[in-house]
Amino acid sequence: MKKLKFDTICVKENHETPNGGSHILPIYASSAFSYNDIESSIDVFTGKSEGYVYSRYGNPTVASVEKKLAALETIDLEESGFCIMTSSGLSAIMTLATSLLQSGDEILTQANLYGGTTEIFSKILSKYGIKSHFINLSDLSKVEDALSSNPKIKLVYCESPTNPTLSCVDIKATADLCQKYKAHSCIDNTFCTSYLQRPLTLSVDFVVYSTTKFLNGHGNGLAGAIIGKNGEHKKTVWNHMKLMGTNCNPFDAWLVHNGLKTLSVRMDKHSDNALAIAEFLLNHPKVNKVNYPGLSTNAFHTMASTQMSQYGAMLSFELDGGIEESKRFMNETKLCSITSTLGNADTLLLHPATSSHLNIPKEIREKEGITDGLIRVSVGIENKEDLISDIGDTLDRLRS
Ligand SMILES: *Cc1c(COP(=O)(O)O)cnc(C)c1O
Repeated sequence: MKKLKFDTICVKENHETPNGGSHILPIYASSAFSYNDIESSIDVFTGKSEGYVYSRYGNPTVASVEKKLAALETIDLEESGFCIMTSSGLSAIMTLATSLLQSGDEILTQANLYGGTTEIFSKILSKYGIKSHFINLSDLSKVEDALSSNPKIKLVYCESPTNPTLSCVDIKATADLCQKYKAHSCIDNTFCTSYLQRPLTLSVDFVVYSTTKFLNGHGNGLAGAIIGKNGEHKKTVWNHMKLMGTNCNPFDAWLVHNGLKTLSVRMDKHSDNALAIAEFLLNHPKVNKVNYPGLSTNAFHTMASTQMSQYGAMLSFELDGGIEESKRFMNETKLCSITSTLGNADTLLLHPATSSHLNIPKEIREKEGITDGLIRVSVGIENKEDLISDIGDTLDRLRS
């Protein structure tokens, strides 16, 4: 059979079923797996045959979802890849970083990362002698200067687009620099998913996910994933996951399995709705600025177009009136909820200055474009006319 397309892989059940077995992937709620004779058990323990032993090492439900996530991420590569699911997005990042790095190694990354990731780098890994440098990764000459002058940098870690101002990094050029200077490259692809952007195809070594967001898509479970090309690192990453106990539980993996069935249709609609809302906001007199790489006026539009197939659900915009008007906007919309996650089917709002960026001094966050008037939107898959009419009515009621 010809290689299956993305949306077919999303939908197709991939677990083994005996005659009369469950059509939909079952949840293996079992901590351990048993063997009829000690010889078979020994074969599995010594790696002679494949099998499950204990759910921290691997679980059939989790394995089915891992297989699907790896297939989606590597769909346009010759070689196959591996996926290891973890208990959350942050545990995926922590598991990968500890697998790849040793005390004395350094990380090159950007200032505008997901908040928890910044804290892992600056507060936890730093305790174990792993230092991080936070620069603007969109500036390739700065990346090359750092890599060429500092051989201790062993990992370049990025997000594109970033939170909450949606700036982008040239993924292929950054990954090529990593190859030149022998550093690993890793991207957090949570905002895009492999449906919109495939970093492994752009020469990146590892992709991490908070599957909590778009891959699950329904806001009802927490999990993460590490995906890479097959090779020496698969075993190391698996070993770290197993020993640190950062494994994904089968129920949360199963929720991702459910979410994946509609991934392509959801991402199409998220992207279509977000572009329509971004264009509406851009033309609204009470809005100062709209950050969305899908807008042709956006500074990252050309770069994003080479690496994203559509521009996703995430956007942010700045209201003219500062903090009071942004609070009013958030309180008065009827369809959008004030919820500090993203990637759900419904539209979610976040006010970075009073939540995710509360502890960052105003002068510093304003330099990054995170002003008091900035609102982040995770655009849902509602009818776009309803969303635009709710957002428009709310804006009309504001003073400024
Ligand atoms: C939510 C998020 C994370 C953290 O994921 P958890 O599943 O909450 O641990 C990491 N990166 C990005 C971009 C996120 O949005």
